[in-house]
Amino acid sequence: MLIVMKSDATQDQVDRVVEIIEVLGLRGHVLPGETRTAIGITGNKGSVDPAHFENVPGVAEAIRVTKPYKLISKDLRPEKSVIKVGNAEIGGEELAIIAGPCAVEYPEQVLKVAEAVAASGAKFFRGGAFKPRTSPYAFQGKGEDGLKILAEVRDRFGLNIVTEAMDERGIDLVEKYGDCIQIGARNMQNFSLLKYAGQARKPILLKRGMAATLDEFLLAAEYIMSEGNYDVILCERGIRTFADHARNTLDLSIVPALQRISHLPVIVDPSHGTGHNYMVTPMARAGVAVGADGLIIEVHPCPEEALCDGAQALTPAQYAELSEQVKRLHELVNSKEEIFAGV
Ligand code: PEP
Ligand code: MN
Repeated sequence: MLIVMKSDATQDQVDRVVEIIEVLGLRGHVLPGETRTAIGITGNKGSVDPAHFENVPGVAEAIRVTKPYKLISKDLRPEKSVIKVGNAEIGGEELAIIAGPCAVEYPEQVLKVAEAVAASGAKFFRGGAFKPRTSPYAFQGKGEDGLKILAEVRDRFGLNIVTEAMDERGIDLVEKYGDCIQIGARNMQNFSLLKYAGQARKPILLKRGMAATLDEFLLAAEYIMSEGNYDVILCERGIRTFADHARNTLDLSIVPALQRISHLPVIVDPSHGTGHNYMVTPMARAGVAVGADGLIIEVHPCPEEALCDGAQALTPAQYAELSEQVKRLHELVNSKEEIFAGV
């Protein structure tokens, strides 16, 4: 059930609707929009009787939701969500570029990349302090020490920090040091972790699981939102297919498919999506061309020495070129009415 308030509904009227929802033993999620506020209801096993809201002042209509997701849906918020991450935004007019190394290795490595990322005008910096590695013998990340290096990047360069958490303790630590908590592909269906992330007070970057369908991906986001954290950014990072020319198959068709259903911003990761340096820039351009709200790119000062994912890392110079290209392309994509006028 979804309650749509009249455009002139007052805060008191919204509060009263939430109160009624709570009396019914359910949870109300208030999502203010540009033209009206909608209130999603979760916690119900069967359908909720719309009669409860029929005569409540300020209510325009009570709509039954038949789809499996409620809060991620454009039914709840028709306009796109703009998510505040630190002192910047993802999902707004500007293309959001998150760049940095796969893993935080040592201060000079991180600071060198941060300098290049800040010089490109990007507002977000990535780097894993907790690394989900296939082998237990591979570099596992620097943990809290790595987060401290990232916090230094924010202080020195004003970049907003996006970094992965793999468990509840990690979420607490990233909440303390970072600006955005990344939930990786391997944890997309770690439901207890998603619920915990839903209680965090920092935005969540949710990566698509490597075998996740669109519904599974959106329901993972729904898990986070159902706990009260509405600041979720979706990330396509490639899926497993029979194709073996790339590390993963970057499924760009999911970008418009997600945007058709959901108000959440969608970004693309051409680094993990391809696994190869030479494919990253062309696929980053492709991501922008299909309408992604942002990109997440791995950069290393010396890719051949990287402790993790060196084959897909760009050098700072390659990254600077990518950044210029995608920014220009994004301007063109946004002016598509002009480009395609009369076509
Ligand atoms: C990452 O971004 O560092 C990462 C591990 O990505 P994914 O979860 O998409 O594999
Ligand atoms: Mn990586």
